[in-house]
Amino acid sequence: MKIICIGRNYVMHAKELNNPVPEKPVFFMKPETALLLKNRPFFHPDFSKDIHYEVELVFRINKVGKHIQEKFAHTYYDKVAIGIDLTARDIQSECKAKGLPWEVAKAFDSSAPLSEYISVEDIKSVKDVNFSLTKNGEEVQSGNSSEMLFHIDSIIAYVSQFVTLKIGDLIYTGTPAGVGKIAIGDEFEAFIEGKSMLKMRVK
Ligand code: MG
Repeated sequence: MKIICIGRNYVMHAKELNNPVPEKPVFFMKPETALLLKNRPFFHPDFSKDIHYEVELVFRINKVGKHIQEKFAHTYYDKVAIGIDLTARDIQSECKAKGLPWEVAKAFDSSAPLSEYISVEDIKSVKDVNFSLTKNGEEVQSGNSSEMLFHIDSIIAYVSQFVTLKIGDLIYTGTPAGVGKIAIGDEFEAFIEGKSMLKMRVK
């Protein structure tokens, strides 16, 4: 399986990092080894001094597809979860300055904490999902899927022009504003519609 991540999908987050608002979805990938499941702790690596949390809604692909039309895209996912796109911001800034790919800043082991899934059938609309993240008990990020620049159906239509989607692939749909640095000892908790879904302690 592969993890496809969308960058700059919320206007306020693009602005907080002084990035332009994109005209097409910006995507990159993380490998399967990036997954961090079952509320396991994240062990802070030595290679970065500035790893950021980015809370994101995540969709699970349940059907193989290529060149998927947007109007059919909703039939290609069945589950939603919440994840954190951990990002070595210091390394990413160097990559951006040099015009280099982002993988070294994004694709490292355990950089994709992920919650359990909720069936799409059990939420009222994938275009109206509230989610949030707390750090040491205080809310640091909150968003609603209606604020995405590119909705999940549009993302699937775009990405599947280039990359075949397969069963079990995950799409991290971008983060709202409020990203920030993680530190050893921090405890994060992520919520969908106020329900606790994911915990991550930094060790
Ligand atoms: Mg992200």
